[in-house]
Amino acid sequence: RRLARSRTNGIFPDRSFSSAPSDSNLIRATLFPGDGIGPEIAESVKQVFRVADVPIEWEEHFVGKEIDPRTQSFLTWESLESVKTNKIGLKGPMATPIGKGHRSLNLTLRKELNLYANVRPCYSLPGYKTKYDDVDLITIRENTEGEYSGLEHQVVRGVVESIKIITRQASLRVAEYAFHYAKTHGRKRVSAIHKANIMQKTDGLFLKCCQEVALKYPEIKYEEVVIDNCCMMLVKNPALFDVLVMPNLYGDIISDLCAGLIGGLGLTPSINIGLDGIALAEAVHGSAPDIAGKNLANPTALLLSAVSMLHHLNLHEKGDRIQDAVLKTIAEGKYRTGDLGGTATTTDFTKAICDHL
Ligand code: NAD
Repeated sequence: RRLARSRTNGIFPDRSFSSAPSDSNLIRATLFPGDGIGPEIAESVKQVFRVADVPIEWEEHFVGKEIDPRTQSFLTWESLESVKTNKIGLKGPMATPIGKGHRSLNLTLRKELNLYANVRPCYSLPGYKTKYDDVDLITIRENTEGEYSGLEHQVVRGVVESIKIITRQASLRVAEYAFHYAKTHGRKRVSAIHKANIMQKTDGLFLKCCQEVALKYPEIKYEEVVIDNCCMMLVKNPALFDVLVMPNLYGDIISDLCAGLIGGLGLTPSINIGLDGIALAEAVHGSAPDIAGKNLANPTALLLSAVSMLHHLNLHEKGDRIQDAVLKTIAEGKYRTGDLGGTATTTDFTKAICDHL
């Protein structure tokens, strides 16, 4: 029952927040194919959408070759304006150099577009066996602050400092989103994940905000779990959790752990919810440079992210149809990509999905 709920509701994080555009008109949506495997899996989404006759007109934007002074990153001003105008978009992974170089494109997008909550559903896929067959989790990650504030500097030679920012405003709004999500999606429990025993002020404030919001939702069970214990509990018995809400960095890590429970990063979608009605869907995974350009990537995560985008637009029938086709293709097992133990290329797998539409 839990899994059925996820497939019909949990994957649609923003149903209750959306307006209802007409199905008959073409809707303009921004598409960032992104880096590495991004263009290959974005092509897969475009193909599936074409065959499913989804009334979306893509406005494609590529990562620029030079830093745009107006965004201070390789993201062009025009691409940001495109999302602000269309209010809906799909984003492929964007690579960020490690330990040096330009400001993360993902951070730029989240900050500039006020994408305050990142919703990451994760559920066992029928017919694809892993250690558990009852994973059904929603990670809701605060998306604008924490250790990702980008406030780092060298104090003296050999000593660097990174500043973690937690604000009442951002904590309250993500907690509100999590509880509202739980209530409107038939979920029973919200767990706030933290390390307030050590980070007493920052995570302490985050917890206080969650407690405050929890009081407004007496029908939802609220609990607090220290992050290290949470990791152990998730690996031992993921059914202990339902909706998890947490500061930025923890959400990044925990959602990859959750992906590992169901078969890997090729499977887990997400959607970023913004102020001003903006939503930007994206896979949880990165640009996978090790398999980029080889037609080996699993497009499921981006496809299911695109499905959540369709539900945000109230195109539920199209979203359900595509999701069913993806899940059927994986369950059948004839065409699976290498990450799921198969030998299908991205193209084979995409074609099999289209045949199921
Ligand atoms: P990654 O998610 O790109 O890859 C981790 C592992 O998962 C690799 O073995 C990869 O082959 C595999 N994998 C990921 N997606 C897959 C898919 N769709 N199909 C099959 N296998 C898949 O993580 P990484 O290697 O740590 O990061 C690579 C780059 O991506 C870095 O520059 C990082 O900053 C960036 N990144 C971007 C985002 C984003 O745009 N939201 C998220 C995470 C990482």
